[in-house]
Amino acid sequence: MQYSPSRPVRREFLVFGSPAVTQREIDAVTEVMRSCWIGTGPRVAAFEEQFRRYTGARHALALNSCTAALHLSMLAAGVGPGDEVITTPMTFCATVNAILHTGATPVFVDVDPATQNIDVSQIETAVTGRTRAILPVHFAGRPCDMDAITRIAARRKLLVIEDAAHAIEAAYHGRKIGTIGDMTCFSFYVTKNLFTGEGGMVTCADDATAARIKTYGLHGMTKDAWARYSDEGFRHYQVVLPGYKYNMMDIQAAMGLVQMPDIEKNLERRKQIWRAYDDAFRELPLSTPAPEEPDTVHARHLYTVLLSLPDLKCTRDAFMDALTRENIGSGVHYVSVHLHPYYRERFGFAPDRFPRAADISQRTLSLPLSPKLGDGDVEDVIHAVTNVADCFAK
Ligand SMILES: *Cc1c(COP(=O)(O)O)cnc(C)c1O
Repeated sequence: MQYSPSRPVRREFLVFGSPAVTQREIDAVTEVMRSCWIGTGPRVAAFEEQFRRYTGARHALALNSCTAALHLSMLAAGVGPGDEVITTPMTFCATVNAILHTGATPVFVDVDPATQNIDVSQIETAVTGRTRAILPVHFAGRPCDMDAITRIAARRKLLVIEDAAHAIEAAYHGRKIGTIGDMTCFSFYVTKNLFTGEGGMVTCADDATAARIKTYGLHGMTKDAWARYSDEGFRHYQVVLPGYKYNMMDIQAAMGLVQMPDIEKNLERRKQIWRAYDDAFRELPLSTPAPEEPDTVHARHLYTVLLSLPDLKCTRDAFMDALTRENIGSGVHYVSVHLHPYYRERFGFAPDRFPRAADISQRTLSLPLSPKLGDGDVEDVIHAVTNVADCFAK
């Protein structure tokens, strides 16, 4: 069946995940350009310091992506060939690619159907003599069960490296995400809660780990490149390992710095939108996100619904196409990593190897969720979803 509304709910297409660029970001970036210190410099240092204070972590190290943050966290911990890292298949491919880049093997554990986070009750059976780390992903901004994860890690002597790409604002049992695991990795990609275009951050408590990540992130050099040419005079650097080119630029940090003071305000706005969606979709043939667990803060990065396909005469993709015809953009988070050809072929995964992640992959749909949305935009999304669901309802 072709869905074709006589008139879409809105004239202009609502782009999913479009960043809320304001004059402040434009001014901040322009100022950096005028200063001519556009590479890694004082703004990166200031952004690291503000982020460190926000999370309460001992160290915060800026990099050019969360992928780089994950990669270096594992390298700094000595994870490499022959090692195994336990993670979730319900994530962006970067989580798993970062494991593969170290030479280690990803070992997937299926998700909890309610939270869509790693099912902690299945982690311990996945631990082997080769396991070095657990890499939980705080899916959509909902903190994982960190008590269970840190307990298993302590018992089996494993590292905990968190993918908090969705979870800058999240907290668990009174502790900010970024202060619980051995290392926590954040993303400032265009679509994320705080954006710098490309960008990432690692937080950690261990001084030696922080020093290794810093060295690995800039060619393996022992001194900051930006300090080399400062007015303190020329200083020699030494290369102590074959590092990477993962540093953040001041142009990027300038965007992060202007957004830091608004983090909580933006979360509050996303919460309002979240509640409006929850209220509006109660009677529709889909399930809305589970409420947040007690004594946790959900960072509300993605509002994902699960379509009840038996009650609809359409697929998820047809539902998304219909939303597009209503001029509403949507997203899929995610098609489970084990269903993508590379991992499927390399590890020989059948779809039902991780049945919950496979089921979510077919039914999940993310709706626009951004402080950029006005009340009218939120109404448009609600109308479009309601129209499409009504039309396809059996
Ligand atoms: C966005 C994202 C990443 C990668 O972040 P980059 O900063 O783009 O490298 C990793 N994991 C998850 C869950 C993500 O959503």
